[in-house]
Amino acid sequence: MELNNLIRKNIKALKSYSTARDEAEAGYSVYLDANENPFENGVNRYPDPRQRELKREISRIYDVPVDRIFVGNGSDEPIDLVYRVFCEPGIDNVVSIAPTYGMYKVAAQINDVEYREVLLEQDFSLNPEKILEAVDGFTKLIFICSPNNPTGNLMDEIAIEKIATSFNGLVIVDEAYMDFSGKEGYIKKLDDYPNIIVFRTFSKAWAMAGLRIGLAYAQPEIIKLLSSIKYPYNIGSDTQTAALKFLRNRPDDKVRKIIEERKRVAEEIESIQGVECVYPSDANFLLVRFSDSVSVYNRLIENGIVVRDRSKQPLCSGCLRLTIGLPKENDKMIYVLKGGNVEEKTGRRVVIERETKETSIFLEMDLDGNLDSSIETGIPFFNHMLDQLTFHSGISIRLDVTGDLEVDEHHTIEDTAIVLGEAIYKALGTKEGIARYGFLLPMDDSVAQVAIDLGGRAYLNWDVKFCKDVVGGISADMYRHVFYSLSIASKATIYISAKGDNDHHIAESIFKAFARSLKMAVKKDDTNYKLPSTKGSL
Ligand code: PMP
Repeated sequence: MELNNLIRKNIKALKSYSTARDEAEAGYSVYLDANENPFENGVNRYPDPRQRELKREISRIYDVPVDRIFVGNGSDEPIDLVYRVFCEPGIDNVVSIAPTYGMYKVAAQINDVEYREVLLEQDFSLNPEKILEAVDGFTKLIFICSPNNPTGNLMDEIAIEKIATSFNGLVIVDEAYMDFSGKEGYIKKLDDYPNIIVFRTFSKAWAMAGLRIGLAYAQPEIIKLLSSIKYPYNIGSDTQTAALKFLRNRPDDKVRKIIEERKRVAEEIESIQGVECVYPSDANFLLVRFSDSVSVYNRLIENGIVVRDRSKQPLCSGCLRLTIGLPKENDKMIYVLKGGNVEEKTGRRVVIERETKETSIFLEMDLDGNLDSSIETGIPFFNHMLDQLTFHSGISIRLDVTGDLEVDEHHTIEDTAIVLGEAIYKALGTKEGIARYGFLLPMDDSVAQVAIDLGGRAYLNWDVKFCKDVVGGISADMYRHVFYSLSIASKATIYISAKGDNDHHIAESIFKAFARSLKMAVKKDDTNYKLPSTKGSL
């Protein structure tokens, strides 16, 4: 390969933009060269256009000389730049495999370069002869993605090397997913194959997709060409700093876990009805062929799970691409693929508005604590008790009560308890997957024991002795009444016993113990979708 013959004429003639920072070497004490704002705020200076510190770190981690590294704004940047350096619009062409990552084709269209697709074999392997047959005198680049997106497989090295050694242009090997394959890839073999450009990214194994850092590794002359036409300050200073920070911790543990999950998910999915094939994967996703991918896709969407529909890609009819997520996310997906339905994110949230002659109540409750709580009943001590309830249960409660306090507190407290009980009952929905039982024994200078069963039967057992008739300005018998009303409205069995020397503390420990017991009882185990009952209904 003669690199000089591959470069576009206009690029050969280009005198690239030289930044103020390029011209002035570091080490000056006063920078008045770049029309920056002198007031320091961390980002008032232009970033290093050559990303020297970042490249030094990448060079150390991957054991590659700095002059073979290009750092781009995502992989999109080097993908675009190879067209702009090497392909004469309307004249040259590139050859690529199909199916593969869509950006190679989009970038070809943007740059007005013919894009020739060569189908992979039925097992998604690479056929070097077919690729080389598609090449002509105007072919400048060949794109090979390994492990390939969306098929997930590594490409055979002998096939890649055959292409590289037989082709007079440049071979781009996109190794975005290489870290999940257990293989080394081509970064270390650039001298053996000088016409290979390796693409990598920090978006996958390194978990920095939001930073947008894509890399190209190649011979220094190629890296120089890419650098000469990039936007001068293509990587912001905050991005460079953040990348350096994240590079301190190698992602090996996370990658190992993703690979373990990939195996587990593949095994689980394989036996599901309607699954025709789970293709072997060397990446962080699985390509799965379904007998009816449209309805599978729609069912997943209805359950709040989005995957990538690849069924329109060549060789991929009926295929969805499933990214490997957290174990509980994968479990949800598997559960839905098996025919189950998970409720929506806000499924354990209810709003109740209750209007009577005596009280007007607005309550919003989220059993999973996704709201900011606020409590106003007009009765300070009752507010204090309900604050304990929301705080210690982790259940969000937005409560606004206006009651006939000019009569007394009875209706306000009773109706609030009823509405709270109804809200718990309604928010629990089908009750699938909940722990059902809660019990606790907290210690203050008083002690309270609360046991809860959300099994659907209203019952209160009350074994509490207050010292006085009035507690916190509220008639002592109202405390029993609160939990009685709550148990009826929530259809819960509640056992409460409490004792101590101080009524305020006894009352508070009851609400705290109730809160903690409720927290246990409503808790959902994301991996368990069964009803916690041998009867089959709650
Ligand atoms: N290469 C391949 C093969 C990909 O699948 C993707 C993303 N899906 C990328 C590159 C993009 O990486 P980046 O986030 O660095 O643009």
